[in-house]
Amino acid sequence: MTRYGDTRKSLREENLAPKKQLGQNFLVHKATAIAIAHSGQIAPDDIIIEVGVGLGALTLPIAEMASEVIGLEIDRGLVRFHKEKLDLPDNVTLLHQDILKADFSELQRLAKGKLKIMANLPYSISNPFLFTLIENQEKIAWATIMLQKEVADRLTAKPGTKQYGIPTVLLQSCATVKPLLTLKPAEFHPRPKIDSVVVRIDFSGTHPGRSRDYDKNLFQKLVRAAFSQRRKTLLNTLSTARFFHQQSDGDKKREKQLTQEAIVTAGVSPGTRAETLDLDTFINLTHAFSEALNKN
Ligand code: SAM
Repeated sequence: MTRYGDTRKSLREENLAPKKQLGQNFLVHKATAIAIAHSGQIAPDDIIIEVGVGLGALTLPIAEMASEVIGLEIDRGLVRFHKEKLDLPDNVTLLHQDILKADFSELQRLAKGKLKIMANLPYSISNPFLFTLIENQEKIAWATIMLQKEVADRLTAKPGTKQYGIPTVLLQSCATVKPLLTLKPAEFHPRPKIDSVVVRIDFSGTHPGRSRDYDKNLFQKLVRAAFSQRRKTLLNTLSTARFFHQQSDGDKKREKQLTQEAIVTAGVSPGTRAETLDLDTFINLTHAFSEALNKN
């Protein structure tokens, strides 16, 4: 089968129509696949986890650069196809697996250490995939992934912009994000409507957000609650989330009062909006809420 260039014809010959619901936009240029694999800065003894093997366009150059590839693919038909054709290199192990349901400890066992992940990601799962990475941050060294440009822009957005939101703050707290390559729709079959960007998300090394001591669970809850209604003030969104568990109507005032006190203790104005707050401010809020919750 021709993997590059004539993807459309090859798919037809093999009765493998691209499945829109699985975000199947296959790479069609070999040079581009090689450039993406290079952007992963793969070392010869690396074991790489590739998410969404598809026809193997990216798998091939990765397999040439790495010692092994553990490829995950959700589409049973594609897995069967590769198993029948035996068309993947010997150092590739293909698993029929949904990455959103994967056991990251098991992946770590297979990869013999922290995970090094590469993916040309289905756009439909980019947000849940990013949250899965954040949840498993301790098990990951880095992830070099292709995202729809809009999503990639959100990861590096600055406070005060429309793009700044939950994934921006949560990722900034545990990783560094670097855009590497931009790809045009013509690089894929079928063509998506938008540009794509390859980003490197690095969870390794000493990261300021990670080395600081704060309640990471509470931090995540605060960030999610603060952005739940972007137009509302911090006081409103955080009191609606009821961090102080004041349930009855009469206690609503008390909930608001406790929330206001915690926000002010963190040195933040209760009338401000989440999108203006930087990572340090969210960490200060976490400290203030931890203390207030311990007292009340
Ligand atoms: N890597 C190939 C390439 O670059 O040409 C295919 C990329 S295509 C955008 C995304 C691939 O991810 C598809 O093969 C799709 O079936 C697979 N996929 C979609 N959702 C998945 C999931 N939750 N877990 C694992 N693979 C998934």
